[in-house]
Amino acid sequence: RAKQHSGNQVTFYEQGLQSEVEQRLWLEHDLLQAIGTPQLVLHIQPQFGCDGRVTGGELLARWTHPARGAVSPALFIPVAEETGLIGLLGSWSLQFACDALLSLQKLGETYPLSLNISPKQLMEPQFTEYIRDTLESKGVPGNRLIFEITEGVLIRDIQAVAQRMQALSLLGIRFSIDDFGTGYSNLAYLKRLPLYELKIDKSLVQDVPNDSDSIAIVQLILAMADQLNLRVVAEGVETEAQSRFLFEHACHALQGYLLARPMPFDAWLDVVRTRQRPGPGLSA
Ligand code: C2E
Ligand code: MG
Ligand code: MG
Ligand code: MG
Repeated sequence: RAKQHSGNQVTFYEQGLQSEVEQRLWLEHDLLQAIGTPQLVLHIQPQFGCDGRVTGGELLARWTHPARGAVSPALFIPVAEETGLIGLLGSWSLQFACDALLSLQKLGETYPLSLNISPKQLMEPQFTEYIRDTLESKGVPGNRLIFEITEGVLIRDIQAVAQRMQALSLLGIRFSIDDFGTGYSNLAYLKRLPLYELKIDKSLVQDVPNDSDSIAIVQLILAMADQLNLRVVAEGVETEAQSRFLFEHACHALQGYLLARPMPFDAWLDVVRTRQRPGPGLSA
């Protein structure tokens, strides 16, 4: 640790800076190595309707670093976005999603899967063509995929974003606004973009039904979504009280630790298999 003299702050500052740069370097270098290996996988977190049925699932990236253990996507996704690795990560996750959908289809499951798409990825020049080609070669209909985008996409040319989303909509792809309620305050974009769904951010969900401001905001989002014909999913649902409140207010689906944690996709297939075809020799 730094010594007690006048150079103190400089030393701390430089150390902090260096470790951040160092972190960036290993993140970038090791992530590139990890893509396409078992280090990097997608987990699935299912979503449930009020009747308890599964309505879909979100695919979430998980990276287990050989030396450093689990690295949070909150850490490596931003690095991937800044360094251009997100393109590679994105194509890998699309392949994964298509294969996952085919596996589910074999078990008779036809709900869509949600994939997080970063703004940079969405606006890549050949993105639509890439999606079309991949869906075609995998034999997966576009309406089995929901792309989750954040309001961060709105700092871009909204006209261009809308056009890109329209083109993808023609392939059947549906769009969800992730972390809704935390970002942009100008809601006019809601009618300019072809949207299917809003995902209420967990920071709002966490405070219902105790905090009156959060209750008001969540009710407002649900009422507005109803008027705009948008589906609403609440994320980060951790308690029975939250679940009850959200379903009582006609939220369409819930996602969160209360119902299921993100799990390896194979584990999900086992859940599906055992629930759907219970029989001798099979146990959950
Ligand atoms: P997100 O898309 O908003 O995902 C929801 C996050 O909430 C996930 O964090 C999930 O594990 C966590 N979560 C789910 N249920 C609960 C709950 O009940 N309580 C709490 N406290 N948290 C819950 P995770 O997996 O760490 O992902 C963080 C973010 O990283 C995601 O936020 C998403 O923006 C991004 N991300 C993850 N995977 C990908 C990916 O494959 N591609 C891209 N572009 N972004 C990704
Ligand atoms: Mg998401
Ligand atoms: Mg979210
Ligand atoms: Mg988030």
